[in-house]
Amino acid sequence: MDKDQILSKFSTDPDRYYKVALFESEGFRRKSCTKCHRFFWTLDDGLSLCPDHIENSYSFIGDPPTNKRFDYTQAWKEVESFFVQNNHKSVGRYPVVCRWRDDLYFTIASIVDFQRVMGSKVVFEFPANPLIVPQTCLRFKDIENVGVTGRHFSSFCMIGQHSIPNSQGYWKDRCVDLDFKLLTDRFGINKQEIVFVEDVWAGGGSFGSSLEYFVRGLELGNAVFTEFQGDLTNYSILDQKIIDMGAGLERFAWVTMGTPTAYDCCFGPITKYMINKIGIDTDSNIISKYFMSIAKALSESDDISIVRKTAAKIAGLDETKQDKMISPLEGVYMIADHLRTLVFAISDGALPSNVGGGYNLRIYSEEHLQLWIDLAGILISMTSLTFT
Ligand SMILES: [Zn+2]
Repeated sequence: MDKDQILSKFSTDPDRYYKVALFESEGFRRKSCTKCHRFFWTLDDGLSLCPDHIENSYSFIGDPPTNKRFDYTQAWKEVESFFVQNNHKSVGRYPVVCRWRDDLYFTIASIVDFQRVMGSKVVFEFPANPLIVPQTCLRFKDIENVGVTGRHFSSFCMIGQHSIPNSQGYWKDRCVDLDFKLLTDRFGINKQEIVFVEDVWAGGGSFGSSLEYFVRGLELGNAVFTEFQGDLTNYSILDQKIIDMGAGLERFAWVTMGTPTAYDCCFGPITKYMINKIGIDTDSNIISKYFMSIAKALSESDDISIVRKTAAKIAGLDETKQDKMISPLEGVYMIADHLRTLVFAISDGALPSNVGGGYNLRIYSEEHLQLWIDLAGILISMTSLTFT
C-alpha cells in the first residue's frame, strides 16, 4: 500500500483522522512545515517548521528540557507506574525470539507479542486491556547507523501501550491524552515543547492514521490507530480496532539525561569501561556538538557516510580529529549495542548459526567474543530490567 496516498487522503480531513480531544482542549494549532509541508500540531505559535527541520533539533543534549533526570531503569519505572495508575496492566516482556510467528525470527515491535497469524489473517490475543509492556525488540535493518547516529540500536526497549476500544479499553482521545500527560506531568516536559506530526501506518492488510510525538526534534513515540482493513480503493472498518503506541525507552531516558548519545545513558558502565580501557580522548563539548550536528545531517541525507561528513563539518571537526575522537567512540557504542543484542537473543534461546536470524548473531558473537567474556558481569547487571 502506498503510504503517501493514504497520508494525503487523511490529511484532507484532519478533523476526522487527527484532531483528538486534547488538541481542542489545550488549543493545539495545526500547521504545515514551511520546508517539507508535513502537517503537525503545536502550542508554539512561533513554530513554522516540523521536528525534522527545526533549528534547535537535539538541543536537549547538554540541556535537557526537564528538571527531572531518569536513568534507563528509572525511566521505565516512571512510565510503568504512570500507566498502572491509569488502569493499565503491566505485562512482562515476551521473548526476543519470535517463536509464535513463522514469518519472523525476532520480535520487532511490542504489538507482535499479541499477534497470532491464522492463515492469511492476523488476530490479536491481549492478556489484558489496556496494557503496557517493556518489549525488547531486535532489528537489523539500520545496522550501519548503530553507534554512529547516537540513537539507532540493534536492540531496544519498546514501551508498548496497547488498547482495544471497548468497555475497558479506549481509542484515540484517551491514548493521546495519556501520552501527553506522561510527558508533561511525569517527565516534566513543558507542553510548548511537544509536537505531534500527522502520519499513517500500513501493514499486514490493515492501516490507520498515526500521531508521532517529538520533543526538540527527537521522536519519542508513535501512536498508531489501526482502524481499516483492505486498501485505499476498497476498505472497511476493522471489527477490532487497535491502539498501537510504541515509544523508545532509550530515548525517554536520553531526553532527561541530555548525554551526547542515547548509548551513554543506556550503556553507561559498559561504555565507560571500554573508553577507559582504550584511553580515548573525550572532550565532552566537542562530542556533544558533534552529535547535535548529526541530527541536522540526518534531516538532509540517509547516506550514513554523508551524514558523518556533514556532521563533522557543522561541528568544525577536521578529518583527523574525527578519526581520532569520533571513530573509536562509534566502535565502543556499536560493541555495547551488539553485546546487548546477543545477551538477549542467546538468553532467550537463539543460537548463532549459518541461517536466518542466527546468522546475524553468529557475526556479532565472533566479532566480540573476548570482550563479551570480559564484560559478562556488567552486562548481567545492565539487563536486570529483563531478568527481574
Ligand atoms: Zn519539515
